[in-house]
Order: sequence, then structure tokens, then C-alpha cells
Amino acid sequence: MSLEKAMDILRKYPLCDHCLGRLFARLGTGLSNEERGRAIKDYLLMRIHEKIISEGLSDELINDLRVLALSGHEPSIKFLRNLSIEVSPTTCYVCGNSIFNRLDEWARNIAESLKSLGVEYRSFRLGSRVPIDVLSRELNITTEFNISSSESIKRELNRELGKRVSSILGVQFSREEPDVETIIDIATGSVTTQVMPIYILTRYRKVHRVVGDRENTRWPIDRVVQAYGAQEAIVHAGGDDPSAARVLGNGRPVVIQVIRPGKRLDIKDISPLLMDPNYDVQLEEPSYVKSSIIMKMKARVRDYVITYRVLAIADDNVTNEAMITLHDYFRNRQVAQRIRHGRRIRRRISMVYELNGSVVRGRLVEFLIKCQGNLYIRGFVHGGFGDVEPSIAGVLGIGVKPVEIDILNITD
Ligand SMILES: [Zn+2]
Repeated sequence: MSLEKAMDILRKYPLCDHCLGRLFARLGTGLSNEERGRAIKDYLLMRIHEKIISEGLSDELINDLRVLALSGHEPSIKFLRNLSIEVSPTTCYVCGNSIFNRLDEWARNIAESLKSLGVEYRSFRLGSRVPIDVLSRELNITTEFNISSSESIKRELNRELGKRVSSILGVQFSREEPDVETIIDIATGSVTTQVMPIYILTRYRKVHRVVGDRENTRWPIDRVVQAYGAQEAIVHAGGDDPSAARVLGNGRPVVIQVIRPGKRLDIKDISPLLMDPNYDVQLEEPSYVKSSIIMKMKARVRDYVITYRVLAIADDNVTNEAMITLHDYFRNRQVAQRIRHGRRIRRRISMVYELNGSVVRGRLVEFLIKCQGNLYIRGFVHGGFGDVEPSIAGVLGIGVKPVEIDILNITD
């Protein structure tokens, strides 16, 4: 990372101030690449001038002056003119002088595209598509001269365009989780824009038993979509509930993804709507989160610890002794499950940590089961036609059918 290299590079490749400055981006913080490139050329000219004074004019020094002049360095062009040598600058090897003079124009186009979205936003992110030949010419130089202090042209473009767009719109540039995103293709000047979704984290409880609940459970989603002026909203839950199960206790984590929102509402304005008790799900105090939370939540599901209450009916009377046997047997017990997807079969192991059973009356029994989040609870009770091993029915040696399932607690 030495400025000495700058002269060597220019001797081989004429570079504009931007493209030269970018190679030494780590030197002189507070300078733009253009200012840095210009400063390097000024410095190189002064060194040549110093040598001319001490050693006299030589072909070698004139040649270096010519190199600077070719790269568009005005003081060097004037210096040579005083020696009656005319040099007109050539185009930059990397950018062809056809990129950085269009920044204002591109920034105006981007700002127009963002305005025409017709949605509210408080931050934007900007990216650019740069022709591959420009990128590879830049890479040639950094590898050939072993330069580790450079910045990529993309970064400079994004920053310079970002600054301009930000000042036109009065909206801040944000690299992480912006409200809208825009990409400019600098080969064609075409601009694409995208409204980023809103992510709301909450937990839901289903206090009523809804038959066919996957289709029939009413969420306040339509009203959320309406409030945001959004296109739609998608519900991402941390795991599935057994059908017709109630979800009680602390509820199940869920992220609501609001697609193409027209408004960026304060969470305080949306909370009452989400927490409206007139729906089948009861949602707790919501908060805005980053998109990455969905991945994290889904990855955690199998390690949830879930407490179920299962009311079941056995084929025969069950004794209290049998319940004690079950309790002792299923203390920290692994349960193997065969999950069938058409012809494919996957094996899954889940832990049952604790099981407490009691006889309600005759053949009617109730179980409290504390287990891993990925246990197929219904199959664990009835045996899943041999696909779940061991199971309650298997250990009891009689048929057992779940009648009601409730989730009492989820530790996520
Ligand atoms: Zn250039």
C-alpha cells in the first residue's frame, strides 16, 4: 500500500481521479476518491518538478509528465504546454469517463422512481449493477499491482448516488433493513425499486377449539393489510398446532410479514387492532423486528419445550398403577417417529421429558406431556399405526385415542 505504486500504475493505465483515488481509498480518510486521486496526481507532479530542478529535464521525466497529463491532470497539461508540448487527455482505463459524470442525472432518476412508488418510507438502500468488463478491468489493476487499499467501484457508486438521492428526497440511506430498495443498472440507466416488507413479532393464543382450524381460525389479518395499505400479509408461525388444539398459556411465537405496505405505522397504532379480542387468536403486545427473525424462529422450533394436555379415551379401563408405569417409563425418553411424505420416509427422534397421567373416569384419561417441540403428539398417544415408537398406546397395550389437545406452555 504505497503511493510509489501510483506512478507505476499510471504509466501503464491512464486513470481518472475517481478510479486512481479508489485504489488508495484507505489513505487519507475524509477525502472523496476524486479528491484523493487528484491529490496523488498533484503530489506526483511536485516530485517530478523537484527532480527537474535538481537533475535537469530528462526524457524520462517528460514522459512521466506526459503520463499525468494523459490521465487528465490539468496542472501537468499546463506544465507541458509551457515546454511547448501539447497533450490531450485520454479516457480512463477503468470507467471510460462515462460513469462519474452522470451521478447527478442517475440520482435524479432514482429519486423520481422512488417518489412514483406512492408509498411512505423513512429509509432507502441503493445498489448498482456495474458492467462486468468495468469490474474486471478494476480487478486487473488491483491484482497486477498487489493493491490492498482499494475500494470497489460499486461501493463508491452506491455511496455517491446514495448521498445525492438522500439529499434530493430528504430520506436517510440505510444499509440494513431499509423501507425501500432501489437498484440502478449503470449500463442502461434503468432503475428498479422494491418496497420492503414490515415484520411484526407477537405470540398468539387460541382459546377456542376451532374445528378445521387451519382454514377456519380467524386472524385480524385483513384489517392489518387494510391499515397498512398493504398488498397482503403472511403469517409465519414457530411450528404447527395439532388440529383442533387450543393454544393456551404463553402462546406460540409468530411473525406477521406485511407485503408492500403503503404506510409505515407506529407500532402503537397497530397494537389495538392486532390485540382485538373479537378474533379466534389472541395476540400479545407486538413489536417490529428484522426479517432475519423468521429464519431464527424456524430453526428453533424443534428445540422448543412444549407442555400438552391431552384428553384421551382408551379401549379399556385404565388403572392408576398403569399411569404410574407410564410416568416412570417416559422420563426423558427418546421417541422415534417415521414421517411419511408420499413414498419417502423420514425418521425423527424427539424427547419426551415428562408424562403425568390420571384417570378421569373409567376409560377417559388425561395426560400432561412435556416434550420436544417436534414431537408428533397425536401419534405419540395412539401409536401412529406403528410409526411412533414407543407410544402411550403401545406401553399400555391397548388402543388410546386423543379427544382433545391443548398446548399449555411453549418454552422457545
Ligand atoms: Zn475512471
